[in-house]
Amino acid sequence: MKKFRIFPEPWRVKTVERIALLPREERLARLKAGDWNLFRLSARDVFIDLLTDSGTSAMSDAQWGALMQADESYAYARSWEHFEAAAVEVTGYAHILPVHQGRAAEHLLFGALLKKGDRVPSNNHFDTTRANIEALGAAALDLVIEEGRDPRRIHPFKGNMDVDKLESLLAGKPDRVPFCMLTVTNNTGGGQPVAMENIARVSGVCRRHGVPLFLDACRYAENAYFIKIRDERYGAVSIPKIAREMFAHADGCLFSAKKDGLANMGGFLAFRGAEHADAVRDALILQEGFPTYGGMSGRDLEAAAVGLKEAQDEEYLRFRIEQVRLFGEMLKENGAHILEPAGGHAVYLDALRMLPHLPQEALPAQALAVALYLEGGVRGVEIGSVMFARTDPKTGKPSLPPMELVRLAVPRRVYTNDHLAYTAEVAGEVMRLKERIPGFKITWEPPRLRHFTARLAPLRAMD
Ligand SMILES: *Cc1c(COP(=O)(O)O)cnc(C)c1O
Repeated sequence: MKKFRIFPEPWRVKTVERIALLPREERLARLKAGDWNLFRLSARDVFIDLLTDSGTSAMSDAQWGALMQADESYAYARSWEHFEAAAVEVTGYAHILPVHQGRAAEHLLFGALLKKGDRVPSNNHFDTTRANIEALGAAALDLVIEEGRDPRRIHPFKGNMDVDKLESLLAGKPDRVPFCMLTVTNNTGGGQPVAMENIARVSGVCRRHGVPLFLDACRYAENAYFIKIRDERYGAVSIPKIAREMFAHADGCLFSAKKDGLANMGGFLAFRGAEHADAVRDALILQEGFPTYGGMSGRDLEAAAVGLKEAQDEEYLRFRIEQVRLFGEMLKENGAHILEPAGGHAVYLDALRMLPHLPQEALPAQALAVALYLEGGVRGVEIGSVMFARTDPKTGKPSLPPMELVRLAVPRRVYTNDHLAYTAEVAGEVMRLKERIPGFKITWEPPRLRHFTARLAPLRAMD
């Protein structure tokens, strides 16, 4: 298969959904009406929607079929049994607690284990993970390896954690670190995988200091596939076995079924030991629902139970990782600068290199995201200063993130290579116009997770 450039979809299309490209002047009007925040656009006004790969997957005929057979009983429904069995089989953990999505899992786990002043290390925390930790007065520490902070450095496992940094953090005051996390793949850090060896070493350090390790496992299957193709020791090992080995190094995980569950909604917490499950169960009942549905309908449970297995299909994973890699190549051929190498679920555009005339304070990643919509109806998401810059409460100065990225997330099984080739051409057009693209400023922001609802304005009128 390798001699062909394109690895085709290992499925054929059964149902289609109409999408449409608005005229440019209407796209400009929609941007103004949405205060230049792409989260505020009507989805119907977006042509190619690469805002997120979360909850945007296309379901298979097997998933739709399972939906019809769902059991909507309140307690111990048949659909729960299917869901629990799939989650146990994938993770190897005995205790499964369903939640309606990943951040509910974060909220429950952190609420049970964290107190003010605590510190939680990870390779990189995801935005909602960081916000849920900070909301409790604790600190979220990003300990990704040096290579992971440089968009140009190539490294096969750029999502790895710096184990020495973790060691010195824990050698100091392990009592202020109630647990450690590892995000696989590392979403905020470019969808980059974490090596099995790194997971094992992080696990070793944590165990020595008596600190539990939890995987933020939303994209564990993509991570497992990267391990298979980039670590020769795993070339002949199956995806389910690699995944089990990853989970075996940790004490539990948080999982959003909206990613590698191939579902539109759902998630779970899974633990090796009963004590962690016991610590969150009461809050689960209070906030999400009875512990056999946790905010999901029977239909959601069925879709995720089937999706969890489908996401481990090696042909599917090969197509997915190859499609995203090809997307990265096409973007580069059109003159865009990307975070190297392409991630598992997304390609990240490097806005500092694509729009070098804009200083970081002028929100270049925001400017780039707006330009992609204006020129081609493509929606990506800013992962830069709008999402992560913080004002230091002591000095009043903004602390800027190390990278200004626009993430073009590829929904699972939704877009064809032609959709992505078109998107790459739109990026090429933006590069031709780049001198005319103005910077941005924030005109209103909420106290937390401001990127979702902030209002912005260009520094100069746009036409
Ligand atoms: C999506 C995501 C979450 C949160 O999951 P939701 O289902 O969106 O609430 C947590 N961590 C990572 C790494 C994610 O990508």
